Amino acid sequence: MGNGDRQRASVRTSQERQAQARPRPDVACRTCASANVTVQFGKYGYYLNCGDCGGNTPAKPVCAACGQPGKVSKRGPEFTATCAGGHTWAYWTNPA
Ligand SMILES: [Zn+2]
Ligand SMILES: [Zn+2]
Repeated sequence: MGNGDRQRASVRTSQERQAQARPRPDVACRTCASANVTVQFGKYGYYLNCGDCGGNTPAKPVCAACGQPGKVSKRGPEFTATCAGGHTWAYWTNPA
């Protein structure tokens, strides 16, 4: 177990032509690992809707500064995350 992940990572590299934003490990489809997602709000909170496979993934931002989970807030197409440590960062911007 674990060998499959390495193979999948190399497959993903060839698909990255579509990626317009920088790769973000905390913003990716859990089904197909695509970063072609939009952030949406549903009854369980913010989630990522995948443009490639249609799957939904809970939005779980992680603070790069302290490693704590962040809470998402929305302003227009822009999503900001704030962690318990008081850090705020740009989580995602939905494509127009
Ligand atoms: Zn997907
Ligand atoms: Zn933090």
